[in-house]
Amino acid sequence: MTIKKGAAGVFSLLISLIVIMGTGACSPAEDSSTTSSEGQVPDADAIDLIIEGEYIVTMDEGGNVIRDGAVAVDGGLIIDIGTASEINSRYNAKGRLPGENRIVMPGLINGHSHAAMTLLRGVADDLALMDWLNNYIFPAEVEFVDAEFVRIGTELACWEMIRGGTTTFVDMYYYPDVVAQVVESCGLRAFVSATVIDQRSPDAEDAADSIEKGLAFIKNWKDRNNRITPIFGPHANYTLNAEQLKATRAAANDAGVPISIHMSESPFELEYSKQTFGMTSIELFESIGFLDGPTIGAHVVWPTEEEIKILADRRVGVIHNPTSNMKIASGISPVTDMLRAGVLVGLGTDGAASNNDLDMWEEMRLAALLQKVDKMDPEVMSATTVLNMATSGGAEAIGLRDKVGALEIGLRADIIQVSFDDVHFVPTYDVISHLVYVADEQDVASVTVDGKLLMREGEFLTIDTNRVRREATALAGRIQAALAERNQ
Ligand SMILES: [Zn+2]
Repeated sequence: MTIKKGAAGVFSLLISLIVIMGTGACSPAEDSSTTSSEGQVPDADAIDLIIEGEYIVTMDEGGNVIRDGAVAVDGGLIIDIGTASEINSRYNAKGRLPGENRIVMPGLINGHSHAAMTLLRGVADDLALMDWLNNYIFPAEVEFVDAEFVRIGTELACWEMIRGGTTTFVDMYYYPDVVAQVVESCGLRAFVSATVIDQRSPDAEDAADSIEKGLAFIKNWKDRNNRITPIFGPHANYTLNAEQLKATRAAANDAGVPISIHMSESPFELEYSKQTFGMTSIELFESIGFLDGPTIGAHVVWPTEEEIKILADRRVGVIHNPTSNMKIASGISPVTDMLRAGVLVGLGTDGAASNNDLDMWEEMRLAALLQKVDKMDPEVMSATTVLNMATSGGAEAIGLRDKVGALEIGLRADIIQVSFDDVHFVPTYDVISHLVYVADEQDVASVTVDGKLLMREGEFLTIDTNRVRREATALAGRIQAALAERNQ
């Protein structure tokens, strides 16, 4: 038996952790039947699933990596972790995912997305944020986004996220009821925001209307499905005034839900905030009590030193979106400074209109490379730090670390297998290095959320991908035709 500590290669014992009670959740892939192990007939005591791997990258506090290991899953929970021989001697399982050439790790956490914007992928590129938003995205959304658009776009996003090993995402878009329904059926875990914005949007007239509709959505979905957390998503401090921001916080606190908001994203926002409020964004949020409750801040590219202290003190979860920040030229977020100051930092893709995909492997790689070249120091951000931001640290940033983010006994079974069959994994000296600097979406072999299989060896078990491709292509055709007519 080999239990190896992280990339450092120090041997230590894996410590079993607390067992939290929980129940398996609803809908998808009740059929978790997989390759049965030789000669074993599942019995009444059989657990749901055993997931094996040549490496089990736990992302637990000790950074333990288990060679030739396995994770035992039952009732939606991780009930045991150890070497494959230990786990197989202790349990009989109804389903089994074999571990040859497989790395097992926690599912990735995409802390900031606008899922349905997959349908606007590539519709307007190479533009500055405010030009892009005001002249392309907002008008296109008012014209084209309805419940059907959101359903198809979110299904497309869920397909892509499952393909790439993302198991939890924090979404901000319109028609949150529809987003939640898609998440419920595709089997992922998500924070689904009711967007609050003070302009006519696809699903509301103004800020007050969007708060009212948001409250109805939250009431409808709170405590309904353990995978789905309804939250408020006030857009930003340049699309809402101080009173509206305060009203959103009050509504979120009354409903007992977190907030996700764009925060200190661009030079435009910095200037706007100073001119309108006489202070920068995070100072404003602090001064009006907006941070008095769980807050997820997307981007945070331009915080001052003082604001970084506020983020750490208030335990704001900062979501770094390197691709979007680079593509829109928003700037380089001082991620290493924030981490040093104790800020909780996760990673996100932002929407597919500013990325243009939902590939968390690419975000990990870019997060590391961008900090290195910004600081002109290759040691400033390690592969382990980045992998942590996409898993355990990301879970902490969004307030879900008691449920997911690591392979630990008692956590929900959100687990992926990454294949290292592909040539770019040869040779494998350091598995953590490969996960950050080599792996991509196509290397993910299986995805399990809440103990239910969503993808097995590249086969999608909860999404009719042919139908989604057909519907997305047809809808995009209508958008393209309308845009061509408008631009004539
Ligand atoms: Zn965004």
